[in-house]
Amino acid sequence: MRVLFVTPECFPLVKTGGLADVSAALPAALTKIGVDVRLLLPGYPAVLDGLSHMHEVGDLITDLPGTERARLVLGHMPDGTLAYALDAPALYARPGNPYLGPDGKDWPDNAQRFAALSWAAAGFAAHESYDPWWRPDVIHGHDWQTGLMPAYLRVRPDRFGGPFRPGTVMTIHNIAYQGHFSPHLLGEVGLPASCYAMDGVEYYGGLGYLKAGCWYADRLTTVSHTYAHEIQTDEQGMGLQGLLSHRTHDLSGIVNGVDYDVWDPATDPHIAARYSIDNPSGKAVCKTELQIAYSLERNPDRPIAGIISRLTWHKGLDMVLENAAAWVAAGGQLAVLGSGEAWMEGGFRHLADWHPGSVGVRIGYDEALSHRIQAGSDLLLVPSRSEPCGLTQMYAMKYGTLPLVRRTGGLADTVIDATPAALADGVATGFAFMNATGQELGFALRRAMAIYRKPELWNAMRTRAMGRDFGWERPAREYLELYEGIAAE
Ligand code: ADP
Repeated sequence: MRVLFVTPECFPLVKTGGLADVSAALPAALTKIGVDVRLLLPGYPAVLDGLSHMHEVGDLITDLPGTERARLVLGHMPDGTLAYALDAPALYARPGNPYLGPDGKDWPDNAQRFAALSWAAAGFAAHESYDPWWRPDVIHGHDWQTGLMPAYLRVRPDRFGGPFRPGTVMTIHNIAYQGHFSPHLLGEVGLPASCYAMDGVEYYGGLGYLKAGCWYADRLTTVSHTYAHEIQTDEQGMGLQGLLSHRTHDLSGIVNGVDYDVWDPATDPHIAARYSIDNPSGKAVCKTELQIAYSLERNPDRPIAGIISRLTWHKGLDMVLENAAAWVAAGGQLAVLGSGEAWMEGGFRHLADWHPGSVGVRIGYDEALSHRIQAGSDLLLVPSRSEPCGLTQMYAMKYGTLPLVRRTGGLADTVIDATPAALADGVATGFAFMNATGQELGFALRRAMAIYRKPELWNAMRTRAMGRDFGWERPAREYLELYEGIAAE
């Protein structure tokens, strides 16, 4: 099974969000189970500099949208995964954020830049392939930046018809980002006028890249079962719900995995003491260290609720602001790490001023501190209004920190609420609430506090959470099964 994995970002070379982590971890996990997977990335400076053993593949590419000169190079990612880079200086030779210019706005030619990436991907299927030595059975695109790839394969058989037609998969990591452009670009990005229709690439009077991917790909996936359902609803479909409901039998949710090489308290170099499910005593050391670092009262009996998050409305942390005083009054502490919208940063700063010794706040991005919060906290709060998958709740469980989440997207799929029945069955791993209101979050916090006061129950939940396996092997096998269903004959 040969899979071309087309993505606009990949850790550690270029990262703006979770997609970069998935683009690194999933190919590595697929390789481990015998899939021959290669990445295709835009040739940003960081990618061309970061690949090793690079060599040129095929001929000069002269028909890409947006540029007449590009070449394909093949090299190794730092972890050894093979990666093609589309070296097209006119499109990608720009330092910094892959999507935004120095003014913080989208590059004005993003339509062409990512049409070119999709075009290059489709080029692997053509009779005169970009790499005649390696033909993918499946091309797997991620997010709107790769949405035109399945469209090209369907509507441009003149250009991309070949002896085999690879199967196509489109994965939606966050439906809020759709790639919506002027319809005047249709010809420039190499699409025939006939596909500018509702049954094609047209999307609310424009050219929709994610819409195109969702219309033309053989299979659609997203990053959790619940999110797969939610994006078919009016509330969360962002305009694509009709199409996604229409394609419901081709759409599946595959929950992302966790990289336990990075997130494991037994080996974590960032934390004060290492610990594991069989030897959990180091967690108390980590808690004390966190209380000192955040100037909280050093008291093992006060539960610390941690937050590691972008501070935005959609992460639901305003509901925490609403409940913080009651949490502190009940004996709780709060350790916050995040950055984002100014009003929310200000809200948390004020909270810390009002509750010295009980609330500590760091505004900023700090990888090492995020590990220390995971290790030192008792609870991790993730009350998101929407969350395609979410990673921090899965890290938390491994660190014996019980997640308290809103029941949405991947949070609903990965956390088992401590209902009386779940507690009796010994399966509970955290706390969940349904409606995004401060009142419901407050109730969940009170439930968590009540269980914290019963150490036997709390420790049983903690052990259960630490034993959950969210590694990448399961998702990799699910993707492989999907590929096998659509691979080129
Ligand atoms: P999203 O991709 O919506 O931000 P996820 O939970 O999927 O949410 O991923 C967030 C990632 O970013 C996690 O690895 C989390 O630890 C990390 N993170 C978020 N904010 C910070 C921060 N201020 N400092 C360090 N790491 C952070």
